[in-house]
Amino acid sequence: MKIALITGANRGIGLATARRLAKDDHHVIVGSRDAVAGHEAAQRLVGEGHSASSLALDVTDPARIRSAAAQVQEEFGRLDVLVNNAGILPEATETEPGSVVDVAMYEKTFATNVFGPVAVTSAFLPLLRESAAGRIVNVSSTMGSLTDQTDPESPYYPTLVPAYQASKAALNNVTISLAKALTQTQIKVTSVCPGWVATDLAPGNRDAAPTTPEAAAEVIAAAATLPDDAESGRFVDAGGTVPW
Ligand code: NDP
Repeated sequence: MKIALITGANRGIGLATARRLAKDDHHVIVGSRDAVAGHEAAQRLVGEGHSASSLALDVTDPARIRSAAAQVQEEFGRLDVLVNNAGILPEATETEPGSVVDVAMYEKTFATNVFGPVAVTSAFLPLLRESAAGRIVNVSSTMGSLTDQTDPESPYYPTLVPAYQASKAALNNVTISLAKALTQTQIKVTSVCPGWVATDLAPGNRDAAPTTPEAAAEVIAAAATLPDDAESGRFVDAGGTVPW
């Protein structure tokens, strides 16, 4: 059975991804900054007949990340799949539109959406190297596509949430760099846009979102289970390749 860790898996797309991978014969480790919420989510999956456990993991807390990796090392000795899913969009609720130079907003957003995945990946990389087919999925967004942001025909041409869009563009660059650095290994890295999904990420828009967390999980699961001959370092969504 493959071992998969999903960050921010207590709810939303992360929980749906955990359930989807569990159905695909993975033992899923529900990463959650709230240990109780993580435990409850994992228990729910176990109740549905899946193999699941939980791991207290705040992706902005270096000490917690280190001890989480040590815990997985001790329990499983390896990691096959890491889904860097935890993410925030504070601009959806906290600032006026158009505040493109709000330093505190950039710091806060990057701490979770960029430095989080880098720190988690760094801590878990030794465990992914122990896998026969390690897979890293960075949950990104087409809102971070620089091509889309500079295309007058794109819905993201007028910048909507600048710090969030910059964070996902940066995360995409992390995907590119990691994929290159890991070329000589069995590990593949993919950026995935799950679509516009009905979750609590942007509560005001939730009802308008056309994609379910379950459908989003399909795209993420495909990247998490890439065959050995698949290309690493891609940016994809449900429709295929997304331009960087
Ligand atoms: P939700 O707000 O529903 O879930 C976010 C998850 O991330 C929660 O489990 C939350 O935990 C967790 N999280 C936030 N900060 C941290 C942290 N510091 N450490 C650990 N976990 C944390 O959002 P979604 O499910 O929609 O988002 C999941 C990912 O998908 C994000 O990266 C988002 O950017 C991306 N995405 C979402 C889209 C959408 O339309 N929804 C579109 C494109 C990308 P807690 O419950 O404790 O708050």
